[in-house]
Amino acid sequence: MKLTTQRRSAARALLELIDTDLNIVAAGLLQDMALVQSNERSRFGYKRAAKIIAAVIDRSVRDLIDEGTLREVPFLGASTERIVKELVREGESPSVEKALAAYGKRSDIETRRRFRRAYLSRHTMRRALDARLGAVVVSTKRFQGDLQMHSTWSDGVESIAALAAAAEALGWSRIGITDHSYGLPIARGMSMEAAGRQGIEIDEVNETFAGRVRVYKGVEANILADGSLDLDEDERQVFEYVIASPHSLLRRDTDQTARMVGAVRQRGVAILGHPQGRMYNSRPGITADWRMVFREAACHGVAVEIDGNWHRQDVDYELAAVALEEGCLFALDSDAHSIGELAFTDYSIAHGRIAGVPADSVVNCWEAEKFENWLRDRHRRRKA
Ligand SMILES: [Zn+2]
Repeated sequence: MKLTTQRRSAARALLELIDTDLNIVAAGLLQDMALVQSNERSRFGYKRAAKIIAAVIDRSVRDLIDEGTLREVPFLGASTERIVKELVREGESPSVEKALAAYGKRSDIETRRRFRRAYLSRHTMRRALDARLGAVVVSTKRFQGDLQMHSTWSDGVESIAALAAAAEALGWSRIGITDHSYGLPIARGMSMEAAGRQGIEIDEVNETFAGRVRVYKGVEANILADGSLDLDEDERQVFEYVIASPHSLLRRDTDQTARMVGAVRQRGVAILGHPQGRMYNSRPGITADWRMVFREAACHGVAVEIDGNWHRQDVDYELAAVALEEGCLFALDSDAHSIGELAFTDYSIAHGRIAGVPADSVVNCWEAEKFENWLRDRHRRRKA
């Protein structure tokens, strides 16, 4: 009871923090400006400024405006400064409104705005990580390692040994390598023959890193239109765990609840990866009755992923709160394709904290034996 109250008040404090995320609002205004530019160069300029403010700088734009130092940030020019200053001082930007009115196609703009819902700026992500929420809520301290990353075996740029070394440097004790399955040739998905050779390489890396980092053999399988996977049950058994993720039909507005429910029922699936398949400012991802999907995931002990890739942030803190209500487990992953991207786990953890997710519900935080038993049970498909 006490814990619940504590968690609630912590979550309230964090929601307030989001309400004051001027960096993400400013980035949105700059994206609006990019949309209405008629020449490629200024479109690029606004998009770059938006990205820097949303995902690169640590400090709040309010502080930079108050100090008069915004223009010292590389690539932030006079028009960006004007827009951000208006936002900070007036709570809105008359110059953006004027440009949008001249452009006319309001519905285009509204559509794009819907594709930017519940994302965190880097500034607010850091504040969410630093906020004092007590020991119950997931934190970087409790986090033992990332369970979705891609190596040179599919579309990543690092070897497995390099990823293990990077994980050790980050203070992690485990990682899961989850290269794409053969059903996704565009991402150089692995054949099952390659998966066998990869398994041998992982065994070797585990010998090298014994007692320091344990590398798990995962795979990221594709959820097909009917909710089945591109890997059959025997193929899934080759891996210690399967992340099932949607990589197609991500721009439809028809309901895909049955597809997602079907996916979490599949044997061997431990994690539902980037469930919506959304992308910042570019696509909405899947429409579904998420409460129903999460209820099914909870019933089968499948963890809902909070994918921290900046452009994904999927699920976000709003949907994570729904999954938490339904009793779900969570996997907080980077979806890294390079060593630098392992830091995307910070966004996953931040969304989890804002949603009030306890560390005990996050499989990345479990000690090894509990984690491995859970993986084995997903193959046996015992109900949770
Ligand atoms: Zn994916």
